[in-house]
Amino acid sequence: MTSSSPLPGPGPHVQPPALDLLGRTALVTGAASGIGRACALRLAAAGAEVRAVDRDVARLAELVEEAKRTDLAGTVVPRLVDLTDLDAAERTAVGTDVLVNNAGLQLVRPIEGFPPDVFHTVLTVMLEAPFRLIRGALPHMYAQRWGRIVNMSSVHGLRASAFKSAYVAAKHGLEGLSKTVALEGASHEVTSNCVNPAYVRTPLVEKQIADQAQAHGLSEQHVLTEVLLKDTAMRRLIEPEEVAEAVAYLCSPQASFITGTSLVLDGGWTAH
Ligand code: NAD
Repeated sequence: MTSSSPLPGPGPHVQPPALDLLGRTALVTGAASGIGRACALRLAAAGAEVRAVDRDVARLAELVEEAKRTDLAGTVVPRLVDLTDLDAAERTAVGTDVLVNNAGLQLVRPIEGFPPDVFHTVLTVMLEAPFRLIRGALPHMYAQRWGRIVNMSSVHGLRASAFKSAYVAAKHGLEGLSKTVALEGASHEVTSNCVNPAYVRTPLVEKQIADQAQAHGLSEQHVLTEVLLKDTAMRRLIEPEEVAEAVAYLCSPQASFITGTSLVLDGGWTAH
């Protein structure tokens, strides 16, 4: 390679290797946006029939349209569920072979001003709903002696940041839940792992950048490079498709011995 040729980027256009999920069902929560959307399309590309769970009806419809436009081996089937309805969450996971617990939300606020009801909602959607979805999914997985559970954690499952009490608490809890599922599922050939991205280019992060820029009177570029990416050695956002690729790998036959672990995609953040 000459010094003038740019290094090949990891971008979303790299052709993924075939990971055969033909005949498998997969459930992805928070599938209408960001990482969940990329996961739903990636798993459908691998042949899965994907239950795309979200509470956002309009964006679910957009996802289904996108899936139709794309030449996917599998399908994307929308499921309108609000995960704060925990009984509905558990029911919707019955019979799935692959479960990706991804839905999430964020509020950045010091603890003294953090609304208790928001803390409760964050814990419900990001910790209790995953428990209920797993509870719904396991009997079928155990019966067929095959299952894949991927929990969308974060660097904030391993590290804290000020002003993110609910989010950090939920993600640390999810790490513990995921490891417990790994231990219980091991004798049934069911794996459970976390994926831990740093900041991903999604609406959740774009909103944080805009909010912080406004709150501190800074430019969005300054917030991105000097605040959000200050600990990320690679100094860029990761793309949702890169995260989806890691999720797809954990769902593959090749990953059958990987369980109870956390796959960190943080551009060097936790190397500090
Ligand atoms: P996003 O805001 O783009 O998408 C989240 C989705 O979850 C939305 O479609 C939303 O409608 C859905 N959702 C939220 N509450 C729901 C509820 N009660 N019921 C049903 N659906 C609900 O977010 P994202 O950035 O793609 O994040 C997805 C996951 O990845 C989250 O768990 C997040 O914590 C995690 N994560 C994100 C980043 C990042 O930088 N974006 C980094 C690490 C981890």
